Amino acid sequence: MPEANPILHLKDVRYRWPGRASFGLNVPDLSLAKSETVLLLGESGSGKSTLLSLICGTIIAETGRISVAGTDIASLSAGTRDRFRAEQIGLIFQQFNLLPFASVHDNILLPLQFAPERRKRVADLKVEATSLCQHLGLPDDVMTARAGALSVGQQQRVAAARALIGTPPLIIADEPTSSLDAATQATFLELLFAQSRAHGTTLLMVSHDARLSSQFDRVINMADIATSERGAT
Ligand code: ADP
Ligand code: MG
Repeated sequence: MPEANPILHLKDVRYRWPGRASFGLNVPDLSLAKSETVLLLGESGSGKSTLLSLICGTIIAETGRISVAGTDIASLSAGTRDRFRAEQIGLIFQQFNLLPFASVHDNILLPLQFAPERRKRVADLKVEATSLCQHLGLPDDVMTARAGALSVGQQQRVAAARALIGTPPLIIADEPTSSLDAATQATFLELLFAQSRAHGTTLLMVSHDARLSSQFDRVINMADIATSERGAT
């Protein structure tokens, strides 16, 4: 059902990686409603991560329109777009992208430096960062540890805390549970869903694990929303 004010809307979006004639992504129409939790499935190489990069504005569509919270992201200058992303989107990457030599505390608070509105929603930075870590099952003394010294599963949970702090309206996660064991994965997902319920956060998560489907409001298959052009090479 079309949503009047979707948090995310893509219309006739087309993208091709520079110098890569073999892959092109077309997304005719995709909308995500406020507070929806959406699982995006699709085979490897089908363009899931490319689609997330387009939504985040780290790459810009050749044609078509992508709006996040009503703003056409291509209309923003590069610097404005970086700040807009920090305000609107909590990002969890496949490779976490933590600063390895910085403390867990500093990693979690990093996006707030570029997002004054998001920063205002956090009454006490240390208390909030500690609380997120506790909910994610991280040890009490984790805040002062160097991020690079943590296990892979712990780093992924720090990346989740960094995405959740200051409750951005949209959380985007690219295969975030692939390095977590089953119990940790359940805790991790529950925290994302709890944020969605409590704050109306929209969650768009990519996974290759179709078993997660029943936990989400909606499941989207890349094959149904996108046509990818694949040439010879
Ligand atoms: P998925 O996340 O579904 O596995 P990707 O979006 O990562 O798919 O990749 C889709 C296609 O785009 C692949 O052919 C991949 O090689 C290509 N691609 C992805 N990232 C880049 C990049 N940074 N530069 C060039 N080509 C890329
Ligand atoms: Mg990917």
